[in-house]
Amino acid sequence: TDPALIRNFCIIAHIDHGKSTLADRILQLTGVVEDRQMRAQYLDRMDIERERGITIKSQAVRLPYKAVDDATYVLNLIDTPGHVDFSYEVSRSLAACEGAVLLVDAAQGIEAQTLANLYMAIENDLAIIPVLNKIDLPAAQPEKYAAELAGIIGCDPSDVLKVSAKTGIGVDDLLNEIVAKIPHPVGDPDAPARAMIFDSVYDTYRGVVTYVRVVDGELTTRERIQMMSSKATHEMLEIGVSSPEPTKVAGLGVGEVGYLITGVKDVRQSRVGDTVTSAAKPAAEILSGYRDPKPMVFSGLYPMDGTDYPVLRDALEKLQLNDAALVFEPETSVALGFGFRCGFLGLLHLEITRARLEREFNLDLISTAPNVVYQVVMEDGTEYTVTNPSEYPEGKIEEVREPIVRGTVLSPAEFVGPIMELCQGRRGTLLGMDYLSEDRVEMRYTLPLAEIVFDFFDQLKSRTRGYASLDYEPQGEQVADLVKVDILLQGEAVDAFSAIVHKEKSYAYGVEMTKKLRELIPRQQYEVPVQAAIGARVIARENIRAIRKDVLSKCYGGDISRKRKLLEKQKEGKKKMKMVGRVEVPQEAFISALSAD
Ligand code: GDP
Ligand code: MG
Repeated sequence: TDPALIRNFCIIAHIDHGKSTLADRILQLTGVVEDRQMRAQYLDRMDIERERGITIKSQAVRLPYKAVDDATYVLNLIDTPGHVDFSYEVSRSLAACEGAVLLVDAAQGIEAQTLANLYMAIENDLAIIPVLNKIDLPAAQPEKYAAELAGIIGCDPSDVLKVSAKTGIGVDDLLNEIVAKIPHPVGDPDAPARAMIFDSVYDTYRGVVTYVRVVDGELTTRERIQMMSSKATHEMLEIGVSSPEPTKVAGLGVGEVGYLITGVKDVRQSRVGDTVTSAAKPAAEILSGYRDPKPMVFSGLYPMDGTDYPVLRDALEKLQLNDAALVFEPETSVALGFGFRCGFLGLLHLEITRARLEREFNLDLISTAPNVVYQVVMEDGTEYTVTNPSEYPEGKIEEVREPIVRGTVLSPAEFVGPIMELCQGRRGTLLGMDYLSEDRVEMRYTLPLAEIVFDFFDQLKSRTRGYASLDYEPQGEQVADLVKVDILLQGEAVDAFSAIVHKEKSYAYGVEMTKKLRELIPRQQYEVPVQAAIGARVIARENIRAIRKDVLSKCYGGDISRKRKLLEKQKEGKKKMKMVGRVEVPQEAFISALSAD
C-alpha cells in the first residue's frame, strides 16, 4: 500500500469512556464485520476482558475506508489497554501510530487516565483528535466538557467532535477527520527493514503471534528475522493482517501494521517494544527505547490443596507464554506449604492472573498480602533486594529504600479536603495542585507504592463518591523508616504474616493481626500466646485460652463404636489443619487473616 493512503491511529480514553464500543462501531461502519456477526467488544478476545469490560492486551485491525474524497484508505486501528498496570503497552501502541483519538465521556469529563494518556500521546508527537462520547446520554454535558477538553489541548471548543459510540452518531465524521488530520506514515522503503513490536500474544494453535508496525524497508515471508535487543534470529512462517480475522499477506511495507508468526516459543522472546529486522540485512539502529517489564508488586500464591502444586506450576508456565511481565519462583511457607513467589506489574495484574489461574486451570488458591520490592543496605555495605518480607535480613541495617510513585488525582473540587487527608495518611507529599476548570482539580503527589497497592483505590472512590480518579507512574525510590513486624504463635514466627511496614504504623499492624488471629484460631489444649514483634521486641500480645474438654468426655465410657466415630471425625477435621510449632491452625484462619477485610 502507498503510505500516503495509510492512517495509523489509536483510541485513548479513561476506562469505561467507550473505547471498545467505539471500536465496534468503526468495525461495522467500515464493513469488516457484518452486522449479524457483531458482538459487543469485538476486539476484546479474552474471556476475562469481556467479563470485566476491560481491555488487557492491545489488538490491531486493518480497515478499508472510502473517505469523502472518494479515495480508499487503509486505517489501522490499534486498541490499547486502559489501566495503569499496562501503561507500558499503551505507550508502545502509541509509538506505532501517527495520531490518537482522545475519547472522553460527555457525562463524566476528563479523568486521570485521560490526562496520562494524552501526555503520552503528546510525547510521541501524535496528532490528537478530541472527541466527546455518549452524547446520547441525558446526563451528557457536551458544551461544558468540550470547553474543558479544548482548554487542555489548546484547541477551539468547536474542534471537539461529538459522537455516540452506542448509536453510531458522528462516527462517520470522525473517520473523515482521521483521514484529514492524521499524517500518513513516513519511512525509507529502501533501508534495511525495521519494525516495532507493540504486542505479542501466545495462541495455542498458531504459537506466538507478534504484532508489528513497519517503520523502514519491508518484511517478507521466507526470510529469517532478528530481534534487535537479543540478536536472536527466527524463521518467519507467516505474515498477515487482522481484518479483523487473520489474513495472510506476502509482505509488509513502510507504515503497515500486521502480524508475524515465527519460530518463537513464548512471548518473552518477542517482547513489546523490541525492534524486528531482517537477519540477512540487519538494520544498524534499534527503534526508540526498549524496556524490560519490571514487576512492582509481589505476592505468594499457594494451592489450597497441596497436591495441586504441580498443576499450579504448569499453569504459571502456560500463562507466562503469553505474559512477559509475569515472574515466579518456588517458595515454601511454614503456614501454607509449597507455592510460588510471583511478581506483577500492579494489583490489577495480580488479580487478573489469579482469576485466570482459578478459572482456566481450576485451582483454588491462597494469596499472601501483596508487597513491593525493598532495598536493604546493611552497615557492612551488603545490599539485599527483598521481595518477600520473611526474607528480610537480620543484623545491623544501615537503611531501607522503598519504591515511590508520582500520582495524579483528578477530582471535582469539593473533594479536595478528603483526598488530602487520605494522601497524607498514606505518607504522600503534595507536589502541586491545579484547577483544570472551575470545578475540576488536578492534585499531584509523591506516594510510597506500598501505600497505594492495598486499598487506596477503594478509599479514594468511597471518599469522593466514585468521582476521583488516580493515575501513577514509578518515580524511583526513597529511604524510609521501615521495620519488619513478625507475628508469633507460641513464640514461633508465622512467615505468611510477616510484613514490612512504616515504623509509625507498626503498632497498629501488630494489634490488628494479633486480634484477628485470636478470634480465628480455635482454642487448643493449652494456652497459646499470639504476639507481634519487631526483632526481639514484642509490641502486641493476645492469648488464646486453653480448653479442658476433650472429645471423648461426652461418651461416658461405654460405646466403643461411637468413640471410634468421633476420633475419625476429629482426624478428618485435622486434615485441613496446619501445624505451626505445636499449634494447630485451621487453613481457614490463614485465609481469613490474609484477606483484607
Ligand atoms: P472502555 O473501557 O473505554 O473500552 O469502554 P466500553 O466501550 O467498554 O464502554 C463502557 C460502557 O459505556 C459500556 O457499558 C458501554 O455500553 C457504554 N457506552 C459506550 N459508549 C456509549 C455511548 O455512546 N452511549 C451510551 N449511552 N453508552 C455508551
Ligand atoms: Mg475496553
